[in-house]
Amino acid sequence: MTQDWDAGRLNSDLDGVGFDTLAVRAGQHRTPEGEHSEALFTTSSYVFRTAADAAARFAGEVPGNVYSRYTNPTVRAFEERIAAMEGAEQAVATASGMSAILSIVMSFCSAGDHVLVSRSVFGSTISLFEKYLKRFGVQVDYVPLADLQGWREAFKPTTKLLFVESPSNPLAELVDIAALAQIAHEHGALLAVDNCFCTPALQQPLKLGADIVMHSATKFIDGQGRAMGGVVAGSAKLMTDVVGFLRTAGPTLSPFNAWIFLKGLETLRIRMQAHCGSALELARWLEQQDGIEKVYYAGLASHPQHELAARQQSAFGAVVSFEVKGGKEGAWRFIDATRVISITTNLGDTKTTIAHPATTSHGRLSPQERANAGIRDSLIRVAVGLEDVADLKADLARGLAAL
Ligand SMILES: *Cc1c(COP(=O)(O)O)cnc(C)c1O
Repeated sequence: MTQDWDAGRLNSDLDGVGFDTLAVRAGQHRTPEGEHSEALFTTSSYVFRTAADAAARFAGEVPGNVYSRYTNPTVRAFEERIAAMEGAEQAVATASGMSAILSIVMSFCSAGDHVLVSRSVFGSTISLFEKYLKRFGVQVDYVPLADLQGWREAFKPTTKLLFVESPSNPLAELVDIAALAQIAHEHGALLAVDNCFCTPALQQPLKLGADIVMHSATKFIDGQGRAMGGVVAGSAKLMTDVVGFLRTAGPTLSPFNAWIFLKGLETLRIRMQAHCGSALELARWLEQQDGIEKVYYAGLASHPQHELAARQQSAFGAVVSFEVKGGKEGAWRFIDATRVISITTNLGDTKTTIAHPATTSHGRLSPQERANAGIRDSLIRVAVGLEDVADLKADLARGLAAL
């Protein structure tokens, strides 16, 4: 049997250490082999010493793994590391960002309960609520993200959960998370924050008062566009319910993907710093260009929530969206003229990506839903990677020239 011979030393030395130290060391459990990098456990089940041992582990009387839908050492290492980085008591890994959102709703809402969702969330998040969760009697209303009075007025006696993305995709709107957490708690509801665009390197919603934080680990946590995954984090009490759903329904994270994400977390902060530096430079440059009608980036002084972003986040993120002249035709011409940047909807990659939200990520929404989310046909989203910023500027200049 594996003896966690060094785990005590590994973990007890981490009390009070900084974010970067947690990012490379939290959650590691060393096996007797003495491996320095985290081990990858590709096993679906685990062997018991005796029938009595099996019975005790199944009953939860002694700790230990039973089956990888329940627990896996590599997945657990990822969960412990991200929990430490978010300042959460516990984290639960999921197969994707969408299954993280599904797990939150399945864990905390029943038929007849009401959920408030910020208006401009990820396209599939809206589809999940509209096409599926509503079918099971979960009521959903949408609120403009930044409008605190709007949130207050939208509550019903049955409101159980608030779900927000701050900053939002793709328009970089924000909500004052501390203020919204207080409003949620006054009404006895939970606040869940999709922290995908900031990651814990830029923003830690639980420390601002949110109850639950979730990620698509597919994005910046992986950081290199390789693996799908998600995570939900919060108090141990809340996570007990999420664990229950995950173990039963089964959208658990694969150990291989967990291993990728463990390695991704180790470089997360320095990558985010580089992404954000280039994004700010490109946003400032785009704002000066003819052919650009509007730039959405919270790092710009022109952004209506610039001050809140500077207070709530340690940097402004990697996603820069902008509207070009010429509507959809102009946007498509701009995108097709680029030669370095990849035309793809993924983000949080070393490689910069460019996409037309109205016909891709938000294409499945009705025109009305799209208008409500503020997604115009002239909008382009760039998720800035780690290439030389001069090369990215030159590539975007090709797009401008094509308008
Ligand atoms: C990508 C994304 C999701 C969904 O995550 P998947 O890993 O693709 O399932 C949810 N929220 C935001 C903000 C995203 O960008």
